[in-house]
Amino acid sequence: MPRLYDSVAQQSAGDVDGLDDDHFHDECGVFGVFGHSDAAALAALGLHALQHRGQDAAGIVTYDGSHFHSERHSGLVGDNFSKPHVIARLPGNNAIGHNRYPTAGGSGLQNIQPLFAEFAGGGFAVAHNGNITNARSLTRQLRERGSIFQSTSDTETLLHLVATSAKKPFIDRFIDALRQIEGAYAIVGLTEKKLVGARDPQGVRPLVLGDLDGAYVLTSETCALDIIGARFVRNIEPGEIVVITEKGIESLKPFGENPARFCVFEYVYFARPDSIVSNKNVYDVRKQIGAELARESPVEADIVVPVPDSGTPAAIGFAQAAGIPFDLGIIRNHYVGRTFIQPTDAIRHMGVRLKHNANREVLEGKRIILVDDSIVRGTTSLKIVEMVREAGAAEVHMRIASPPTTDSCFYGVDTPEKSKLIAARMSLEELARYIKVDSLAFLSIDGLYRAAGEDARRNDRPQFCDACFTGDYPTRLTDHQENRTDSQLSLLAVV
Ligand code: AMP
Repeated sequence: MPRLYDSVAQQSAGDVDGLDDDHFHDECGVFGVFGHSDAAALAALGLHALQHRGQDAAGIVTYDGSHFHSERHSGLVGDNFSKPHVIARLPGNNAIGHNRYPTAGGSGLQNIQPLFAEFAGGGFAVAHNGNITNARSLTRQLRERGSIFQSTSDTETLLHLVATSAKKPFIDRFIDALRQIEGAYAIVGLTEKKLVGARDPQGVRPLVLGDLDGAYVLTSETCALDIIGARFVRNIEPGEIVVITEKGIESLKPFGENPARFCVFEYVYFARPDSIVSNKNVYDVRKQIGAELARESPVEADIVVPVPDSGTPAAIGFAQAAGIPFDLGIIRNHYVGRTFIQPTDAIRHMGVRLKHNANREVLEGKRIILVDDSIVRGTTSLKIVEMVREAGAAEVHMRIASPPTTDSCFYGVDTPEKSKLIAARMSLEELARYIKVDSLAFLSIDGLYRAAGEDARRNDRPQFCDACFTGDYPTRLTDHQENRTDSQLSLLAVV
């Protein structure tokens, strides 16, 4: 019976300091490789390329033919997985890895993925990007039947569903477990004999297949293939399960054919610009978004200035389409780690410009078009506009490269609740007054669809998951509904 060698470690250099806490939080990234003698090192590199998808913690599990080995650490990939002795503790030709930004379940060492469990049929490690929207209700049922949970991660629910399945071969148990879960997932899993990959029936979260000298690679984005020199083979399709063994790759479609609803926010913000996701280069789509925005909401100005880095490709597209010069009027400090703790309360309240600073020479006396990808709570826009005005801008016109974010995401993006989304609370005019701009415009939903290669949004059957902009959720939201019913009931009780 294979035993697990597990090392879980907290970084000493501090924790989340609340720096970015007024933001949506990034999703997670997954990586898997089967049949390569450098499996752990490749996983570390892949996770490094996917660092933008989660900076909170990272983990790798390998299998060496007789044992599983696991290293899970809080902090960045480079800080934890760049040392030869760490990689040496991860022998084996097969590996999976995960970058985490805590969405469901919160932070904590026990929640760092990949999670591992020893079943009757052998060991199973799993890493998951997305969010299971009925995890809470499934967990309750599992607990009532005797399951003992070690973490608060929704991914552990999946492990228990596999463990308690009455089916026999592993893959049938895995499918049986997936049938019971709702929500969004891109999963990589490792057993003694197999690397498995799975995408939810609507394909909300991305997962691609690559090839490196005959070794199979599964990962969230193509930038993780590029870093190791792997060849992109294809996307894993919505609802597809791939099973990789020494004999090759097998594709299963146990959920039938479903219309795809890929997350459009991957194009707006999440994915790395150099990645190809859902067959489109993210940078191209972002430039198209900027061009659409320029056509929909033109304004006379001297320069187009991005809020770096997230607004940069759209600002380039805007400037090119509008024929207005592009300039770097805001400079971003790339070394703002999550561990920078502002030393005193007084300094914390000074609103120190840790992340962005105005480039006065560029802005002074100019009419500026500021381009950012999204407004969530409005904190960034408020600060940036104030900074640009202080630097002497004559006019500030804000252009947002997505529609107003009016609804929470339940699919792996840790959005604040709806009441905290500023666009859900304010009209366009109110919001423009609040962030103190001369004009404000968001991209239309059809403009976003056009930039992503569609003619327009098909309202009866949308081509993407755009729930954060429309409130049109492609799956049931069992836990959320239950929550609402609970709070309605307790309100009734109070009344
Ligand atoms: P806010 O300050 O709350 O309005 O957040 C808007 C800013 O957050 C924009 O500059 C975006 O680039 C950034 N942003 C949007 N989505 C995310 C996300 N999921 N994680 C981190 N930052 C984000």
